[in-house]
Amino acid sequence: MPTQYDVIIAGGGMVGSTLACLLGNVGLRVAVLEAHQPQAFSPSDPYDLRVSAISRASQRALVNAGAWVGVAARRATPYEAMFVWDATGDGEIRFDAADLGEPDLGHIVENRVIQLALLDAINAQANVDLYCPDKLATFSVNPDAIEVTLQSGTVLQAKLLVGADGAQSEVRQLAGIGLETNDYGQKGLVCVVQTEFPHQETAWQRFMPNGPLAFLPLGGGSCSIVWTLPADRADALVMLDEASFCRELAQALDYRLGEITAVGERAAFSLRGRHAEPYILERIALVGDAAHTIHPLAGQGVNLGIKDAVELAAQIHQAHGDIGSLRVLRAYERARRGDNVLTQKAMEGFRLLFGNTLTPWKILRNSGLNLVNRMGFLKYEMAKRAMGI
Ligand SMILES: Cc1cc2nc3c(=O)[nH]c(=O)nc-3n(C[C@H](O)[C@H](O)[C@H](O)COP(=O)(O)OP(=O)(O)OC[C@H]3O[C@@H](n4cnc5c(N)ncnc54)[C@H](O)[C@@H]3O)c2cc1C
Repeated sequence: MPTQYDVIIAGGGMVGSTLACLLGNVGLRVAVLEAHQPQAFSPSDPYDLRVSAISRASQRALVNAGAWVGVAARRATPYEAMFVWDATGDGEIRFDAADLGEPDLGHIVENRVIQLALLDAINAQANVDLYCPDKLATFSVNPDAIEVTLQSGTVLQAKLLVGADGAQSEVRQLAGIGLETNDYGQKGLVCVVQTEFPHQETAWQRFMPNGPLAFLPLGGGSCSIVWTLPADRADALVMLDEASFCRELAQALDYRLGEITAVGERAAFSLRGRHAEPYILERIALVGDAAHTIHPLAGQGVNLGIKDAVELAAQIHQAHGDIGSLRVLRAYERARRGDNVLTQKAMEGFRLLFGNTLTPWKILRNSGLNLVNRMGFLKYEMAKRAMGI
């Protein structure tokens, strides 16, 4: 006899776990399937390679999920300003939290810290069960329920199965949902570095024709970097000896933070835009990277995923009747697709605009940056939109 739930969520990453907590808050019976147990956290651990710039809207969702307290107790670094400039001219723009009357623009947090805090919140809810390590093997859709078999052989039944299982989503593939992909031919090189000059609690981003380079501030004067490069160049930089890599990196940031004095492990991730069509089928919904991945240049990937989780939880909460029906799920897809498409296209537009070396484009983007920088109202409307306030 299968164990009964209202919702089964495949994937207990940042997005799936947020959704589980929000649904648990309103008394639904939820099962979360997570393939990997994240490594326990110790404050003496070096910073992880994978970090996210968490917007105010995502922070609010994590507060509601009961997880922000666990994030703050581990470690999170607020950033108070953001400085963006173009390597090919004098265009620059600066956002300050103080000008918005806010204490910060957001927080830089390790993905593992967010996931661990969410898993604590899940374990504190009697109506949410975590199956970990375990994963979805198969499912079958019946007229009034969906039956899910786990790799361990356990069988579960629910009204709705949510695919929150990341970019390679098995739920999406098993359901036969189509995917539009755009291979950028680029990789994101990530590592944690120490710099000669303090980062001033500022996120730094330099746009170069090859791709943007971001320095995100962490505690102890460290910065997490995301350097977008053509794939072969990124692979070569991962293999380069430390001293030469530090020289190349300092130069790429135009020595704004002086020399790079130490560098940790380096890794490069392929960058690919993806969009599922549709996000939903009868008794199935996709959220987060399972539904869409975008270029990391504005650090919005997980923030969009958390918005999906908040919206799907709200639609389920206010639904009358069957929460796995197309009527309820369509309202979720209608509410989220437009925002996700717009953000994905905007990131692709920025990438192409800043990657263009023709003089008219250089003039356009440099004068555009300077113009927006002087237009206080427009500039702060942009900042508020990115922060979700
Ligand atoms: C270089 C780089 C930098 C980035 N920087 C930022 C940033 O600054 N800010 C930002 O917002 N975003 C950033 N992103 C994007 C962000 O990392 C992703 O959008 C985010 O991790 C998506 O979260 P998710 O929970 O949807 O998926 P994932 O993080 O992929 O989680 C999926 C989970 O599902 C589990 N799983 C997979 N398959 C199964 C299965 N069959 N059964 C059970 N469990 C399963 C996995 O173990 C995993 O825990 C960046 C991405 C890259 C590549």
